[in-house]
Amino acid sequence: MGRAGQGLSSIPSVNRMKIYLDGALVDSADAKISVFDHGLLYGDGVFEGIRLYGGNVFRLEEHLERLEFSAKAILLKMPWSRKQISDAVCETCRANQLVDGYIRLVVTRGVGDLGLSPWLCAKPSIFIIADKIALYPPEYYSKGLEIVTVATRRMNPAALSPAVKSLNYLNNILAKIEARQAGALEAIMLNDQGFVAECTGDNIFIVRKGRIYTPAAQQGALRGITRDAIFDIAKDLAIPMEEHDLTRYDVWNADEVFLTGTGAEVIPVVKLDGREIGTSKPGPIFARVLEAFRRRVLTEGTRL
Ligand code: PMP
Repeated sequence: MGRAGQGLSSIPSVNRMKIYLDGALVDSADAKISVFDHGLLYGDGVFEGIRLYGGNVFRLEEHLERLEFSAKAILLKMPWSRKQISDAVCETCRANQLVDGYIRLVVTRGVGDLGLSPWLCAKPSIFIIADKIALYPPEYYSKGLEIVTVATRRMNPAALSPAVKSLNYLNNILAKIEARQAGALEAIMLNDQGFVAECTGDNIFIVRKGRIYTPAAQQGALRGITRDAIFDIAKDLAIPMEEHDLTRYDVWNADEVFLTGTGAEVIPVVKLDGREIGTSKPGPIFARVLEAFRRRVLTEGTRL
């Protein structure tokens, strides 16, 4: 039987894992959340995806700040200090002897009844998984992705701010399914005005005549931690970079396109909607940015 059909307990690496759950490290088999948790019933909660590089938790403080902002936006009061969460993240990595990996930090509204009312949930839950992740097959980092624009629009900020990293990712999941149906690994999502917002789990950047452009967060992008790092890298490398409204036309006619995200890291795009981007190979500015990114991730953040 394939891995998907075996159930969690028969996957050795998952089985041996220690999970941080509400104040204690527990075996993964014992890391359980109630079926009455509103994180599960309603997607009521917030999360972070964080990377660990050579024992350095990349930009941990920035992730924890974004977590606090997400929680505040949904009126979820976290009863833990930033230091407590930061210590728990590091402790979970150490308990799993992880030096390079991916950390999933989740805060749910907690256990309530079957109604929506979050005020009936007594206390939020927190759990931390420290593991590995590979979002795209390795060859795409050197040859580049071919992506498509999908019909599913990025959520309107008047409904729920896309800046909130909430447990409800259905909007992105539907876009991801559309990408797959079109034979692509990733998709551009437009906002309701037709401007480029971001991809399903990554921010997007174009290069045009030596300058880097990325949509403003107000256009429907998550304020990516990796995206922030790209601003710093561009400044360091003296590559002009700015936020700018982008249409599909701008992306089709860019010299280079690349995506960033904690899971994806920095990955080039060489085709969008059947149009080849630039030379249809990862470009020179992408290469410089990637090299600088590789150096930064080892030093910026919190050491275990
Ligand atoms: N946009 C979305 C929708 C995301 O889920 C993510 C995170 N995977 C990103 C952008 C990139 O953000 P970060 O660099 O903080 O991971």
